This record gives sequence, structure tokens and C-alpha cells, in this order.
Amino acid sequence: MSQIYDRVAYIGLGLIASSMIHAGRRAGLQGDIAGTARSAETRAIAREDGLCDIVTDTAAEAVKDADLIVLCVPVGAMGHVAQEIGPHLKPGATVTDVGSVKRAVIEAVKPHLPEGVHFIPAHPLAGTEHSGPRSGFAELFENRYTLIVPDGETDPAALSKLERFWAAMGANVEIMDPEHHDLTLMVTSHAPHLIAYTMVGVADDLRRVTDSEVIKYSAAGFRDFTRIAASDPTMWRDVFLNNKDATMEILGRFIEELMSLQRAIRTSDGDHLHAYFTRTRAIRRGIIEAGQDTDAPDFGRGAKGAVE
Ligand code: NAP
Repeated sequence: MSQIYDRVAYIGLGLIASSMIHAGRRAGLQGDIAGTARSAETRAIAREDGLCDIVTDTAAEAVKDADLIVLCVPVGAMGHVAQEIGPHLKPGATVTDVGSVKRAVIEAVKPHLPEGVHFIPAHPLAGTEHSGPRSGFAELFENRYTLIVPDGETDPAALSKLERFWAAMGANVEIMDPEHHDLTLMVTSHAPHLIAYTMVGVADDLRRVTDSEVIKYSAAGFRDFTRIAASDPTMWRDVFLNNKDATMEILGRFIEELMSLQRAIRTSDGDHLHAYFTRTRAIRRGIIEAGQDTDAPDFGRGAKGAVE
């Protein structure tokens, strides 16, 4: 694979950035790699591991001369980072992000970018419950979708380059508009996280009643919830605070469905429950047939589980 960008700068050096760096290196897609993180501790790890060619102390220094700048910080920090790097961007550079929410990120970032810099938001639908500069791996994006969110003014050449970059890291690339993205991801990723956080919270309350039995007898279903609920608290706080409308919409529907199941159980309506569970089982089969998971007993996650 040939080099796509001469110099790439990563702002934030956690799971997603380190996975992109490994995947991009393996495929030879990026010339020089610059990177920075908020804490001196993360920067020291990145230097020690040789994660980037240059690790700078500030985002402003990292973006100097970069052709592609990838914002890999929590959604709530995107605007602040954009404000810092705005005056230091090279004309013609592309700024992209990997945030899990798109409308709020566009509103936070776009006003800080100068004329002549392309802003093309994106979101790789791949992740694990692990965080930090040592959690990344080159295979993370393979056969997973990356959604790119251009607008009517996006430069076609800059867009095509970014699409090639993601495709060369193994991703299936699709274009989506921000509202559709935020609603779809609320259903497929964000709401399941909220439900997992809640279920584990309920179990935590119950644990005080049943002592350690919640841990001792944890069955596969509960263990799956705990894995999802172990995801980074800052990232998920920011996702919900920045995608409120879709959260309210999907939570409303969720509560209605839950009440319909509650009623079916109370009235011993076995036919309703059976039909409902048959319908949901088909969705699982559809995901396996689409190659987005496997039928292995541990749901195919192994050590490198996909969360998003
Ligand atoms: P991560 O492993 O926790 O890394 C986050 C990075 O951002 C760290 O380098 C951290 O610096 C830095 N950071 C945190 N707060 C900051 C702030 N207020 N200002 C500046 N920098 C800050 O996170 P990640 O999983 O890579 O997630 C990064 C982005 O990708 C998020 O927007 C998330 O929504 C999105 N995303 C995540 C997943 C997933 O499953 N994890 C999947 C797809 C997209 P320090 O290390 O110095 O604290």
C-alpha cells in the first residue's frame, strides 16, 4: 500500500489513535507521525514505546506542517482542542475526528477552523472497553464500518483521500449525514451502553442484599453487560451529554417496549413473549450473516472485543 499522507498528527493518544497509528504503519499509509496527549504520563508512554515519530507537549506543536490531523479525544473536548490548533493548521490540511457523536462535534469544531482547511468528521464503529496508548492494535478496524460525515461543501479530493486512508486500514467506509448517524448509533451503540450501565448498577444495589452472589454466579448475559459497562466513563459521559435528543427518543421507545414485556409477563401472555424473542433472535442471526460478529460461544470477542 502506498503512502496517503506525508504527515499525520494525532491529538489524543488512546485506544483509537494508537490503533490507527498501528494500522496505518502496517499498511505504510502515513509518512511522519506526530502525536500529543493531555497528560505528561501518556506522552511519556508514547515516547517510550515509539508510538509516534514525534511526541509534542502541545496540540499546537503537533499539527505543525501536518496534512491530516485526527482528533482522538472525548467528544466534550473536541471544541477546546480545535480552538487550540486552529491558528497553527497548514492551508489545505484535512482535520478529521473519530468522535462517537457527530452533530455536536461539528458544531464545536467547525467555527475554530480557518478557511482553506478541510473538516471531514468520521466515526470508526470499532472499539473495546480498554483505553489508553497501550490498548490499540492494528486489526481493530478490519471489516468494521467507518462512517464519514461530509457536508455539501466538502472538497471531493480531500474526501476521497480520507476514504482511501480508512479503507486501507481495513474498514468498510460509508458516507452518512450527521443526524442519521446520531440516531442510528444511539440505537446500535449508545443505548445498549446506557442499558448495560443501568443493569450493572441494579446488580450492584442487589449485591448488597445477596452479598457476593452477583459476582460468583454471574452468567454470560450479565458478564456481557459488565464488559460493556467497563467502558471509559469520560467517553460515555460525553456521548450522552452531546447526543441528548436521540437519547431521549430511544429511551422513550425502550421504556414503552419494556412496559409491553412487563404487561405480557403480568398477564401470562406467553405468545407475545415468544413472538417477541423470535423476532429479536433473527436480528442476531442477521448480524452474524453480515460478518459483524461470529457465532462462537463467547460471541467471538476473545481478548479483543468489539464494543462500539
Ligand atoms: P482513550 O483511550 O480514553 O483516549 C483518550 C485520549 O484523549 C487520551 O490521550 C487522553 O489524554 C485525551 N483526553 C482526554 N480528555 C481530554 C481533554 N479534556 N482534553 C484533551 N485531551 C483529552 O479514548 P478512545 O477510546 O481512544 O476514544 C477517543 C475518541 O474516539 C472519543 O471521542 C470516542 O467517542 C471515540 N470512539 C471511541 C471508541 C471506543 O470504543 N473506545 C470507538 C469509536 C470512537 P490522557 O491519556 O493524557 O488522559
